[in-house]
Amino acid sequence: MTLELQGLSVRYGPIAAVSDVDLSVADGEVVALLGPSGCGKSTLLRAVAGLERPAAGTIRWDGVDLAGVAVHRRDFGLVFQDGQLFPHKDVAANVAFGMRMHHVDRAERAKRVDELLALVGLAGYGQRRVTELSGGEQQRVALARALAPKPRLLLLDEPLSALDRALREQLAVDLAALLRATGTTALVVTHDHDEAFTLADRVALMQGGRIRQVGPPDEVWRRPADDVVAGFLGCTTFVPARADHDVVTSPLGELPLPGSGDGAVLLGLRANALRTDPAGFVRGEVVQRLHRRDHARLLVRLSGEDVPTNPVEAVAPVAGAPEPGDAVRLALDPDGIALTGNLT
Ligand code: ADP
Repeated sequence: MTLELQGLSVRYGPIAAVSDVDLSVADGEVVALLGPSGCGKSTLLRAVAGLERPAAGTIRWDGVDLAGVAVHRRDFGLVFQDGQLFPHKDVAANVAFGMRMHHVDRAERAKRVDELLALVGLAGYGQRRVTELSGGEQQRVALARALAPKPRLLLLDEPLSALDRALREQLAVDLAALLRATGTTALVVTHDHDEAFTLADRVALMQGGRIRQVGPPDEVWRRPADDVVAGFLGCTTFVPARADHDVVTSPLGELPLPGSGDGAVLLGLRANALRTDPAGFVRGEVVQRLHRRDHARLLVRLSGEDVPTNPVEAVAPVAGAPEPGDAVRLALDPDGIALTGNLT
């Protein structure tokens, strides 16, 4: 059971919202479409759901072209940002809705509603009014409702983005566990890296209507395809370097970087790529300091040969963090470094 998109394009009049996308989702796999607002993620998801008509290309399920198949005949479940529950129905009736449409009998429906509410952590909530639930609880009901008819594919459009940060993180972990436990095949739209990386087996990075890279979260994070993808994934400074047997040498010093191989490479530095270290190779002067929850974020103007000319980000422990004007020494931290392809 596989979803397969080939050469898929969707247009809104003159706007090419999705351009020439190839993507597959395997049985039981969770794929996240990640990208900035307006890059075409929702449009792609809506085309898969049957809510938008492609201008070109095909959408196949198990090899069967879905072009002439209506939304409700695709057997796909849908969850949107705001749940879109029926306010006048109680929780159980909301969850049972899709099963009623599929003519599942009453006893079976009641059993499945209980099962699903337990699965989403809302056992005993069946008779509650949905208007009395918190935002997080409403999204859990929306999820239970979408899963109830056992859809062959679950489509989630920013399912957690209406929730506040702490709740979103918890629900992302719960949702990831739920998708794994039920073996659900899913396509999830999100603009949030953490959410994508928590939920997905593979991440598809979209920009300007196109997919620029697809891969496991760790690979995409450590080896973004180019500087545009790397920039979206938090790299703010790029430094040319040379690799020799997985050790890279750059104007910022030398460090082992697994997978860097041999030859010319480009390092993408995230905010935590440089840390204050009295024995650090890199020297500079602090130009700005911001306090974060558990560390200080610095902007440092570097000195030395071939170093980046713009101030670079660095981190320091909160206690004793240097101030603007202070001289600092910095060392590279491999956790903050991505190995990118060429500059585009
Ligand atoms: P994302 O989900 O990544 O934020 P969308 O798929 O919503 O992006 O939008 C992609 C592009 O298509 C944007 O330029 C957006 O303005 C445009 N767009 C989306 N929906 C419509 C619509 N119904 N009519 C016209 N343009 C639209």
